[in-house]
Amino acid sequence: MTYIPTIGLEVHAELKTRTKMFCASKNDPDETRPNVNTCPICMAHPGTLPVINREAVRHILRIGSAIGGKLADFSEFDRKSYFYPDMPKGYQISQYEYPLVSGGELAGVAITRVHLEEDTARSIHASGKSLVDFNRAGIPLMELVTEPVIHDAETAGRFARELQLLLRTLGAGEANLEKGEMRIEVNVSVSNKKGAFGTKVEVKNINSFRSVERAIAFEIHRQIALLEKGEKVEQATRGWDETKQETFHQRFKEGSADYRYFPDPDLPKLFRSEISEFSPEALRASLPELPWERRARYARTYALKESDTTYLCATTERATFFDAVATALHGDKELVALAANYIISDLAGIFAKRAEEEYTALDPLTFAKLIRLVWSRDLSSRGAKDTLLILVEQGGDPESIAKERGLIQSHDVETLRHAVKSVVAEETKAVEEYRSGKEAALQYLIGKSMKAAKGAGNPAILRDLIIEELQ
Ligand code: ADP
Ligand code: MG
Repeated sequence: MTYIPTIGLEVHAELKTRTKMFCASKNDPDETRPNVNTCPICMAHPGTLPVINREAVRHILRIGSAIGGKLADFSEFDRKSYFYPDMPKGYQISQYEYPLVSGGELAGVAITRVHLEEDTARSIHASGKSLVDFNRAGIPLMELVTEPVIHDAETAGRFARELQLLLRTLGAGEANLEKGEMRIEVNVSVSNKKGAFGTKVEVKNINSFRSVERAIAFEIHRQIALLEKGEKVEQATRGWDETKQETFHQRFKEGSADYRYFPDPDLPKLFRSEISEFSPEALRASLPELPWERRARYARTYALKESDTTYLCATTERATFFDAVATALHGDKELVALAANYIISDLAGIFAKRAEEEYTALDPLTFAKLIRLVWSRDLSSRGAKDTLLILVEQGGDPESIAKERGLIQSHDVETLRHAVKSVVAEETKAVEEYRSGKEAALQYLIGKSMKAAKGAGNPAILRDLIIEELQ
């Protein structure tokens, strides 16, 4: 039997703002002392009133603008009632009927909605005690919901990574999964009937992109196995066990009726047209170059392939570095493409060994100089690799470094011709093989000539000289 998996995502992300969603307490995700960023409002003292954070609304509208969603003309906040110590009011302020954004698309996945709500406090359960830290209570939180249109784990992973990149590009949030700044819930179902959905299961507590993919793959297998045994999938919320790499049952899902949603009478309604900076034109004009636009620009301008543009645009630091190098190379298509290769292979290799991408440690102008030396064949690829490592570790001038270490290749044709002549005279067997059509023999002769030229020979020039010599 073939089963069609269906996946929909619900993503929460903390927004980067100066203050919390409804009060003047600081929004500081790096605060380590518990309960210092609190006030009577986010601690829900009776008689206090919330005030909407304009910066947070703007973040959601800019996200909506970037994904091509419909920006609500009218929007409001609702109370979502539930009882838990992480929510002192007994309800969370969220949006139900009138989200700020409806529709849109990201990484090929249709978006249902994007709305604004407030984060809960952080509960810590340790050594038989439960502690609550209210620093996080009331931090502005984005909730984005996708349509159930994803059919494999990789697409879900790609979508989630693209969303993180978008949030960072917009300056809307850091969206680190490990820090809980971005939380991804996956809904998974399988069906063997065309056009009909199976029962969905929601998986929470996932804290890496890889785990998003693994949790989905695990659920697909688990559900198929149940159906194959003639059993049913029950609608439920499950958790992700990182150690066991499996999902486990948490609870059967509550319906939205249990939350008793209703419009929050303490907060004003939003009529978007009354606020000029929230007009679609103003919002669009405020957007920086978006990740997919940047990738398309790199592909168009420098003829880079998709995997390369994806790599170069995966972090802002990387893309900024690449842009600066491209500028230093005056946008010369071939030079920039060569620079891209060195960033993607050699530089990435160096950074991987150092376990950190230190683009700030490397001056783009210096890197561009190195690329010019490779282009002019003054530096071999081996020599460039060694020089690059020194540049990252100590800085300096690529040409002086290469000269100091004898890495500059000789262009002196007469010296090289001399080396080639002696090799051709000695290597009679290889010469014969080459003459009888064996291409490999030429490589061998180039290698020998490089040795004879004490490693300073430019292989391309040597190649030409050998061919010339053998004609
Ligand atoms: P609920 O009312 O249970 O919250 P929603 O319709 O709001 O369900 O959908 C919540 C999430 O679940 C969305 O991301 C949606 O795409 C996804 N979803 C809905 N139905 C399915 C399904 N049959 N299989 C997988 N995901 C689904
Ligand atoms: Mg829902």
